Amino acid sequence: QCPWGAPSTTSISCSLADVMSEQLAKELQLEEENAAFPEVVAAAEGPFITGENIDTSSDLMLAQMLQMEFDREYDAQLRREEKKINGDSKVSISFENYRKVHPYDSDSSEDEVDWQDTRHDPYRADKPTTTPRRGFIGKGKDITTKHDEVVCGRKNTARMENFAPEFQVGDGIGMDLKLSNQVFNALKQHAYSEERRSARLHEKKEHSTAEKAVDPKTRLLLYKMVNSGMLETITGCISTGKESVVFHAYGGNTTEDKVIPPECAIKVFKTTLNEFKNRDKYIKDDYRFKDRFSKLNPRKIIRMWAEKEMHNLTRMQNAGIPCPQVVILKKHVLVMSFIGQDQVPAPKLKDVTLSSEDMKKAYYQILNMMQQLYRECNLVHADLSEYNMLWHDGKVWLIDVSQSVEPTHPHGLEFLFRDCRNVSQFFQKGGVAEALNERELFNAVSGLNITADNEVDFQAEIEALEKMNEDHVQNHGKKLSTFSSDGDPPIYDE
Ligand code: ADP
Ligand code: MN
Repeated sequence: QCPWGAPSTTSISCSLADVMSEQLAKELQLEEENAAFPEVVAAAEGPFITGENIDTSSDLMLAQMLQMEFDREYDAQLRREEKKINGDSKVSISFENYRKVHPYDSDSSEDEVDWQDTRHDPYRADKPTTTPRRGFIGKGKDITTKHDEVVCGRKNTARMENFAPEFQVGDGIGMDLKLSNQVFNALKQHAYSEERRSARLHEKKEHSTAEKAVDPKTRLLLYKMVNSGMLETITGCISTGKESVVFHAYGGNTTEDKVIPPECAIKVFKTTLNEFKNRDKYIKDDYRFKDRFSKLNPRKIIRMWAEKEMHNLTRMQNAGIPCPQVVILKKHVLVMSFIGQDQVPAPKLKDVTLSSEDMKKAYYQILNMMQQLYRECNLVHADLSEYNMLWHDGKVWLIDVSQSVEPTHPHGLEFLFRDCRNVSQFFQKGGVAEALNERELFNAVSGLNITADNEVDFQAEIEALEKMNEDHVQNHGKKLSTFSSDGDPPIYDE
């Protein structure tokens, strides 16, 4: 494209000199900023997925980063004050409540419990002999290695200083105390679990301030979305769940290659939580992710949840099932269209009172959607209930599909049966006379013909089918281990 061509949208006219000087000013500013805040800028470079240049000229972004840095310094100062006031006193005053940075937020990555000498050896210079980098001193018979009990013990004592300041280690640090590795590690474990406990307390306290519900890196990710113009504003938190926090946002500028809905929902998968551990089975046994799973750390696994939700939503969208539309996925943050209006999310099916006519309509719609989901999307929702269905625009919308699996998942049919039970019970209680029972619904959705007329036998047959399919996958190698949405339907009829 010719750079001298007619400007497409901007109508502001300015001279070449203006542009040049503006650019120059920007460059100068950048240089200045880099010199003044080298750490801040460097910190911002890491977390973004897109590898674009970091926009240091963005005021909001910079302000946020500075604020973070300020909060950190403030806390450090607070710690010093706390130490000064408490001194050697046996009774100590805690400044815990005045801290700005959530303990989780501080980058405490010095989790080394083993004996590899790290570059940041906490062992201070003014303490007795330390082990040099090569791991030993002395010669021949007098050699002292880093595994030497005495040296090691002293080192351990010194390392206690790394524990959180509120963790009382007594005055052992000042003495020539030698802690065995075992004792040290036990202490360390305790110190960390105490730290985590305090973090949990913090989390509760800060429940109301939605912004605090996400860590600084996530916050930056969100601000970046606002800065880039993709989002207009992030207005607030819609929901705080165990695994995720959902925000509402007004969409920003629609560009040539990206349509941004006027209102968006931002689902932030929590990166700090262990709750995901309980849900391992949804993803670990999902052959789509099998190869990747074993190699991943928890942070990446959580990103995979977000990724999974995105893929599943896309499949549903393609099948025409009412569900949020994916806008963008960045790491563990999924932006999608907002179901609701004017910041008010559509009510969950469990919270809305429908006329008996609407109730019946909703039922048939769901029956239909479950079939589509199974047959066209090759998916089982796996957490389908009145909690994850929204009523909007006179119809039901499906949400929350990060845990959804393909029917061939080793437990896929069990999940489907559970979904059917939830749906049947809800509509039977809701007075829909036509509602199938869970076994009928299961057959209607899956097209399987399980004839057992009681729950126990039905369940047993389901498990037998699952086992059969597992064997099939085993025997037929990797045929099904792709991530495509047009894979073969599950094979049960052999
Ligand atoms: P989880 O239940 O795992 O915390 P969900 O995806 O169910 O996560 O989201 C939690 C809540 O946030 C939902 O119950 C719903 O009220 C709201 N929500 C989620 N996505 C949207 C959306 N796209 N539009 C409107 N509200 C949403
Ligand atoms: Mn949910």
